[in-house]
Amino acid sequence: MKISDFRLNRDEQVIVKVSKEILTLYHIAIEEGSDDADYEVFDLHHDIDEEKAVVHTVLSIIKRDGTRMNAECTTEGSADEAPRAEVHRLVKLNFYHLLHQLIELPPAPWGILHGVRPTKIVHRYIKKGLAKEAVIRRLMTDFEVSREKAELITELAYYQRPFLEQTTPRTVSIYVGIPFCLSRCLYCSFPANVLPANKELDRFMAAFQRDLDAVKRAVDTYGFTVQNIYIGGGTPTSLPDDYFEDMMQRVVSALYHPGVKEFTVEAGRPDSMSPAKIACMVKYKVDRVSVNPQTMQQRTLKRIGRQHTPEDIVTMYRDLREAGIPSINMDLIVGLPGEGPEDMRDTIDKVLALGPEDVTLHALALKRGSLLKMNLDETELPDDKTVQEMFDIALSSVVKSGRRPYYLYRQGYQSGQMENIGCCVAGAESLYNIQIMEEHQTILGIGGAATSKIVNPRTMRLKTSFNAKDLAVYLDRVDTYIEKRDALLAEAYGGEEE
Ligand code: SF4
Repeated sequence: MKISDFRLNRDEQVIVKVSKEILTLYHIAIEEGSDDADYEVFDLHHDIDEEKAVVHTVLSIIKRDGTRMNAECTTEGSADEAPRAEVHRLVKLNFYHLLHQLIELPPAPWGILHGVRPTKIVHRYIKKGLAKEAVIRRLMTDFEVSREKAELITELAYYQRPFLEQTTPRTVSIYVGIPFCLSRCLYCSFPANVLPANKELDRFMAAFQRDLDAVKRAVDTYGFTVQNIYIGGGTPTSLPDDYFEDMMQRVVSALYHPGVKEFTVEAGRPDSMSPAKIACMVKYKVDRVSVNPQTMQQRTLKRIGRQHTPEDIVTMYRDLREAGIPSINMDLIVGLPGEGPEDMRDTIDKVLALGPEDVTLHALALKRGSLLKMNLDETELPDDKTVQEMFDIALSSVVKSGRRPYYLYRQGYQSGQMENIGCCVAGAESLYNIQIMEEHQTILGIGGAATSKIVNPRTMRLKTSFNAKDLAVYLDRVDTYIEKRDALLAEAYGGEEE
């Protein structure tokens, strides 16, 4: 849908942003002076009483023929919300309600819930003592989430609770970022560095060692117990065999101990795998490997710039199994260009036939930095309704196969207004995936594009520090990132009395 003009009576950045999120939700583009706009003007007027947490909103829509439609509403915050957050929620909620009153639009499955981690809200409600049905109702009224999604995340949050409790104020996880790939997939917005020559890799390894040493010092200083190690990227297995072995050896000798609960390597694409790397993972007791086909349709793999076939995925999977890797996760993307429900059915059947413990479904999130976004004829993408149908096909097959949802997150610009959801057989739940999504545990990030999330054990407040995605910047500034992380750790754990 197109409109020629969007008028808003407020200029606070955050009010503009949250109001425009509703336009984005329904793909409503503002094209000034456009001849084929569906409506001339959306005129939005918010009266905000921050102290009382009351927002009164008026929406006027002027049609192409000059006729005007008006609607208004007033909503109040709840007593248990953070004051500013509730006002922002009400601004969005009012606009969403009024738009639905004036224009026929399908309800959005996630309503106005825009955040990356919707289950965090549920955990907050559970902590406040709300019963299950009360949580569901709250999600439906406060955020206009559909009953189906509200039930999904509420069930999921309850399921996660025992896993989240497997931590202490001194338990941490480790994220290792190897920011290289053999080539760049077209839908990827991560500025993955194509694997450089050995000279540059040596520089990376030297910086990486400094970063690793600093984390090792922190683990010793604060008496942390490492619960999980996750080696991601990029594609860590894109490193040449000897560099991969070297990286693994450094990580293991610094941080591995027999009590580590989960040791994961993202192996991603078959073109990065080799017998030597599989042997290395077995040697260092990696117990969870991610194999990411994204689709089992050859023409789509080609379309998204992947240089492997579905058969290569099967071979890689079997090689890992034969080597004795106990848990395998497979990632799929729903909504890739040119795909429809039949492709989804075929892909999910082929993946489930292999028998991975864990399957993660991602709704395509086409971000601005991706080559696909820049070169795409949008008509190649399945529309929202088709993506929702494909997601239902995939998720119901996964659930029917005995795998249950155990973690979920969302990204901006996701096709079909869907989500990313991980499902696994009982006992194969990735503790790391749960911890990183729910942000209850400190995660120490080492390497390129790694994020450290430091949770203050006294206040449970989270502070983050980011290592650069760009290789040259990471190499130049590694000491700055170490200092920043050290400072956050000292603030959270220094002088702590238990
Ligand atoms: S392998 Fe992953 S990180 Fe690398 S380019 Fe493809 S999608 Fe991006």
